[in-house]
Amino acid sequence: MVALMPPTKKTPAKAPRLSPRERQRITEIFARFAQHMPEPRTELAYASPFTLLVSVVLSAQATDVSVNKATEVLYKIADTPEKILKLGEAGLSKYISSIGLYNTKARNVIALSRILLEQYGGQVPLQRDALQALPGVGRKTASVVLNELRIEPAIAVDTHVFRVAHRLGFSKGKTPEQVEADLMRIVPNDGLTRAHHWLILHGRYTCVARKPKCAECFLADLCPSRELFMGV
Ligand code: SF4
Repeated sequence: MVALMPPTKKTPAKAPRLSPRERQRITEIFARFAQHMPEPRTELAYASPFTLLVSVVLSAQATDVSVNKATEVLYKIADTPEKILKLGEAGLSKYISSIGLYNTKARNVIALSRILLEQYGGQVPLQRDALQALPGVGRKTASVVLNELRIEPAIAVDTHVFRVAHRLGFSKGKTPEQVEADLMRIVPNDGLTRAHHWLILHGRYTCVARKPKCAECFLADLCPSRELFMGV
């Protein structure tokens, strides 16, 4: 007879259960997001998985507007790994010099273009592990790409998502990873792909960092932070 051994792996701590009232509040919030923004998309301009990947890499600590301004010119000249490689690091830098950290980003985009050509036939691999192994591509960048291309629902937590998630009482997480885990647990399944955009756009235009526009916010009656900002 084979003796049954006790499990050796630790079971992860369970997240606290939501009360029916809290569940209802969250469901209503996402229903309103769906009503106000039925088909939210990234504001980055792209025409292929490759240009999406490059734009997302360039957008780290930069606005989408500044990235679009630079790539509007760049992608007319170079919109494939081959063409970007031909530009070289110095050539690429000239096109993206208006974007923060452009030297590092140019180095990464050249390096990732080379890897795509050498290892993936010039295509962008659409698996998380392969994406995250590319230079300049972290978990957040991979999440944006996979979610935008509808490969894998993911919520990339940037500064807007982090702030809005806290203000709406979705998370008390201290790191983007903790907030992401909380959001993945509570966002209704039919909103998972869109939640990243909803939270970013809400943070960018309404629930802004310094003076959130609570008076015109369609979530005000459901938001535990509204009173904090009254009279701001
Ligand atoms: S009510 Fe105010 S704090 Fe709450 S989500 Fe809306 S803008 Fe943000």
